[in-house]
Amino acid sequence: MPSTAGAPNASGTQLPRAAPPFAPLSLSNRFAQLGEAFFTRLPPQPLPDPYLVGFSPEAAQLVGLPPEAAHDPAFVETFTGNRPLEGGDTLASVYSGHQFGVWAGQLGDGRALLLGEADTAAGHWEIQLKGSGLTPYSRMGDGRAVLRSSIREFLCSEAMFHLGVPTTRALCVTGADAPVRRETIETAAVVTRLSPSFIRFGHFEHFYAAERIDDLQRLADFVIDGHYPQCRDAANPYLSLLAAVCNATADMVAHWQAVGFCHGVMNTDNMSILGLTIDYGPFGFLDGFNANHICNHSDTQGRYAYQAQPNVAYWNLFCLAQALLPLFGEGQAAVEAAQEVLPVYKTRFAGQIDLRMRAKLGLRESHAGDEALINRLFRLMHEGRVDFTRLFRQLAELRMADPSHDAPVRDMFIDRPGFDAWAADYRARLQAEAGSDAERRTAMRRVNPKYVLRNHLAEIAIRHANEKDFSEVETLRRVLMRPYDDQPEFERYADLPPDWAGQLEVSCSS
Ligand code: AMP
Ligand code: MG
Repeated sequence: MPSTAGAPNASGTQLPRAAPPFAPLSLSNRFAQLGEAFFTRLPPQPLPDPYLVGFSPEAAQLVGLPPEAAHDPAFVETFTGNRPLEGGDTLASVYSGHQFGVWAGQLGDGRALLLGEADTAAGHWEIQLKGSGLTPYSRMGDGRAVLRSSIREFLCSEAMFHLGVPTTRALCVTGADAPVRRETIETAAVVTRLSPSFIRFGHFEHFYAAERIDDLQRLADFVIDGHYPQCRDAANPYLSLLAAVCNATADMVAHWQAVGFCHGVMNTDNMSILGLTIDYGPFGFLDGFNANHICNHSDTQGRYAYQAQPNVAYWNLFCLAQALLPLFGEGQAAVEAAQEVLPVYKTRFAGQIDLRMRAKLGLRESHAGDEALINRLFRLMHEGRVDFTRLFRQLAELRMADPSHDAPVRDMFIDRPGFDAWAADYRARLQAEAGSDAERRTAMRRVNPKYVLRNHLAEIAIRHANEKDFSEVETLRRVLMRPYDDQPEFERYADLPPDWAGQLEVSCSS
């Protein structure tokens, strides 16, 4: 990109001529080599007078940008889509998908553009703008994203990474005063997302539905070569790819369940082929535990409720498997081959959820009866709507041999005798394996976060941002970078949601 040295900055003074902070960023675009069937080339639509709302220095590092890059006015212009990046090959990709269980036909990047790919010591990172204007796949949409949802996506992408959950990343969010119509008039924003790949299950479904089997195979080869090279040597690399995606998806969903994350719109077009959490929209973290919690106000049937997520992921993998069928062989043999592979998901998920849930309780060994013990705890939590995050954090303080310190945990439950009975069994179980209270406490605090992006925390940051005060976005980002550490100065970010949080509604409208 052109050097920005000597350009006036926002306050009208000349910037120093020293190395422009983001000159090192130059891009290639391997996805573009797939061919015209996969995308449409087009530039972003500029937004006037953009401003920086949030920036992640850790994400910047992935694409080789120094933290100072965000101070360069050209940074904001570039990541709002107002000026091109050198070597970029900007395009919107086409995909299809199942939405809420129904085949939706062609979708595609209706408001996102792939700028290209940065190759750094941290790997290959595709850079995508979301909210950058109309594309041929916008259908009835306006190609834009609003500030509210863009802040949520920015913060949650980075928070999930720091929780250890597989996810796309977010470099920054920029805003502009341009009006965007949703239920009310809001303002426009652009999130810059980073991912090794933005390919979704829906990309495969698209070419299968169009009966373009050559393109389907080219896409599968592209994903294998770039992201699952171990599949290449298998007897059928495409079956091996399906198995790998089953495993990656199982790992991701087990992580979600363990941190109380609800995605909200697990349509097949929102499922990453790499098993990364993608497309943060009406997501939510559990506050008071309700196994049937529905975070998306538009999900009237509860298809994507917390408890449903593991099975929905499996359903989505069936859609992927169907799309890959032509690559598995002929007729019934292909179907049978797919049916043999798919249960890989169930096995992997069962193992991963067992591992993660036991870790949440500080159980190092696997004993008969552990699952029942864990399920009993969840039932008590469900009945008493016990706060998911605070409960597990507090449970780490329980003493193995001494119930006299139970009050802070016990008082979270409505059914106190029920808790006492459970706690007695939990203690007995803890005593059945080696380890001290102190060791267990340390281990539990490593897997049970203190800080998650609860809706009300995001909402407070959004309200400030609507008044052009972006400091709360930054504070929240920083707190959520260390979700497992006590941060005494930020204790209030671990509080129960205030009463007004119950009225917050998040929907597909973003
Ligand atoms: P989502 O529910 O956000 O995953 O979006 C589903 C489909 O609708 C995708 O193809 C999106 O690109 C598209 N879409 C969502 N919002 C908009 C919008 N405001 N303008 C254009 N396309 C959109
Ligand atoms: Mg989507």
